[in-house]
Amino acid sequence: MTDRDVPLAEQRYAAPVPEVPARPDAPTGHLLDRRARRLHDLRISVTDRCNFRCTYCMPKSVFGADYAFLPHASLLSFEEIARVARLFVAHGVEKIRLTGGEPLVRRDVERLIGMLAQIATPSGAPVDLTLTTNGSLLARKARALRDAGLQRVTVSLDALDDTVFRAMNDVGFPVADVLAGIDAAAEAGLRPVKVNMVVKRGVNEDQILPMAERFRHSGHILRFIEFMDVGTSNGWRLDDVVPSGEVARRIGERFPIAPAEPNYHGEVAERWRYLDGAGEIGLISSVTQPFCGGCTRARLSTEGKLYTCLFAGSGYDLRALLRGGRDDAHIAAAIGAIWRARDDRYSELRSADTAGLRRIEMSYIGG
Ligand code: SAM
Ligand code: SF4
Ligand code: SF4
Repeated sequence: MTDRDVPLAEQRYAAPVPEVPARPDAPTGHLLDRRARRLHDLRISVTDRCNFRCTYCMPKSVFGADYAFLPHASLLSFEEIARVARLFVAHGVEKIRLTGGEPLVRRDVERLIGMLAQIATPSGAPVDLTLTTNGSLLARKARALRDAGLQRVTVSLDALDDTVFRAMNDVGFPVADVLAGIDAAAEAGLRPVKVNMVVKRGVNEDQILPMAERFRHSGHILRFIEFMDVGTSNGWRLDDVVPSGEVARRIGERFPIAPAEPNYHGEVAERWRYLDGAGEIGLISSVTQPFCGGCTRARLSTEGKLYTCLFAGSGYDLRALLRGGRDDAHIAAAIGAIWRARDDRYSELRSADTAGLRRIEMSYIGG
């Protein structure tokens, strides 16, 4: 097996979908797993392709010119995605995030957003619809995304220094164009814009303060993410992680901050606010302070596999049910059975023993 084959071979690994009774119960709008965690969020990866090659996510050594991305026929169609999304919402999902790969490289993604924006929760409220993007196409697309029904956007930006940023995205993409995308998103009403910065030791840690300074008073929320051991191709080492505690200390020394209350139970980012009223930041500490206890997220891969954890080694093949003529009641019951059996808590168990486990690539499962 060559290096190039490893991620794709992993992606094809499917877990058996549980048996479903002949007359399944209808979704109740409230589903709990074995650790009493609600099914509340759905992340949908709409493509495994990306126009960046961030070194911590899709390194060129693995995702090179001859990498075998999924063929179009393998991808869930927009109709299939919307059908599955409706079933998840019937089970209690209130928040849907489109991701990837780079979601804005999927052709016509606005049409999918329009379809998802029509979905209402059992209480009649529209589902909360957001998207995570590298921002490269946002300046061009923000208005159309908003018009289609997108509510907010999260933009990934790892540095303000152009040389550092170009090296991290590894395709020489300029910072200025991502900043223009963030401005366009805010102008289009996709507010507040969240800005995600993955911090890697010795690579962009010197960008923590410039990024903080840039986004203070902007109305945008800058979130610092610990470099994670997702997938098996990014060469992750614990030594490369800059703990969130250190990020908070460095920022606090320059701009005093204080912890703020979470917006809701299970919020992944720990909120801190600037004492001078300049806004807030978030810290996402998957490595140093795992938050599995409040993890309410399901992930639907580009080809329709359901993953109950970012670090899962295999997913449940919902596409086989969709294309195998199963009705909504059957698929909803399968989703219910999968979630009820869920026991994942990888980040809490992370240790030398988990280092060699099979893990799906971030660009495939969706971050
Ligand atoms: N392409 C889009 C983007 O970059 O925003 C969406 C997909 S990307 C996989 C989603 C998020 O995952 C991004 O904010 C990215 O920085 C983050 N990410 C990717 N690999 C990561 C890693 N190894 N550790 C922590 N965050 C990572
Ligand atoms: Fe692409 Fe996003 Fe991964 Fe960067 S983090 S390579 S932009 S999918
Ligand atoms: Fe959720 Fe898995 Fe991450 Fe824990 S490791 S927070 S269960 S996705």
